[in-house]
Amino acid sequence: MNNLIASLTLVSLILFAQASPSLAQQEEPSVTTQSLRGPLHLLQGRGGNVVASVGMDGVLLIDNDYAEFGPAYEKAIGLLTQSDLAPGFIVNTHWHGDHTGNNEFWGLRGSILVAHDNVRKRLNTTQRNEALDMTVEPSPAIALPIVTFADSLVLHFNGGDVEVRHFPAGHTDGDSVVFYLEQNVVHMGDHFFKDRFPFIDLESGGTLAGYIANVKKVLTMVDDQTLIVPGHGAVANKADLQRYLDMLQVTTADIAAALKKGKSVDAVVSAGLGKQWASWGEGFINEEAWIRTVAAGQ
Ligand SMILES: [Zn+2]
Repeated sequence: MNNLIASLTLVSLILFAQASPSLAQQEEPSVTTQSLRGPLHLLQGRGGNVVASVGMDGVLLIDNDYAEFGPAYEKAIGLLTQSDLAPGFIVNTHWHGDHTGNNEFWGLRGSILVAHDNVRKRLNTTQRNEALDMTVEPSPAIALPIVTFADSLVLHFNGGDVEVRHFPAGHTDGDSVVFYLEQNVVHMGDHFFKDRFPFIDLESGGTLAGYIANVKKVLTMVDDQTLIVPGHGAVANKADLQRYLDMLQVTTADIAAALKKGKSVDAVVSAGLGKQWASWGEGFINEEAWIRTVAAGQ
């Protein structure tokens, strides 16, 4: 487990931090905006991707990045709405701080927070992650989702249905994927790191098998015209998601086969996964961290 700690230390900084990691202090928070379809816009700062629906009903946000990015999002949303209205609703795809870091910021401005039951449970209690040697303290009450659900709910907003559907035991135990039915746009949260190895939070109820099953399931629910917003990375399509599933299946099968033959995890790490997957390790999760996650998730 010690090696897993070493290889995941940066991940703990990036994915869990509630306060500013030192890395972030080097850059002034700023947010870029990209039009998707109809009322939908992709907003990107430094954490998880944010999708804003902007229209006659106001603003609905999916996820909200790190805490220090609150004012930058407020500015970006103000430019889209030409007003200073806070989002009416905010959905959290899961509890990690790079997706929920501004729950407090927006809660204080009157936004209604919506998430799966387990997001509220985890944000409301101390989260201890042994592999990352990280403790995240409970959030203040204003930062907790006040509308929670077990399976799914639909928001009828800006002329369309927005289905928020729970996918169990994947990246964590509280993940949702958001389907904008009219626009054929999907926000996958951290069930999709485009062209990168994923982080799977095994200590927050995530599982390797569930993660792969969930990606497979989403692939059956999209078509070639669907715009797929990953938790991290650029806007993608079905072919990109299929390539991601292929990577998950091939690399996990290779790692499992090597371990079954009696190789140690360290030996699998030194042998590596091969050139074909080298570029997938250039994100949050490098090849070593991915191999150790897969080994721990067997
Ligand atoms: Zn996450």
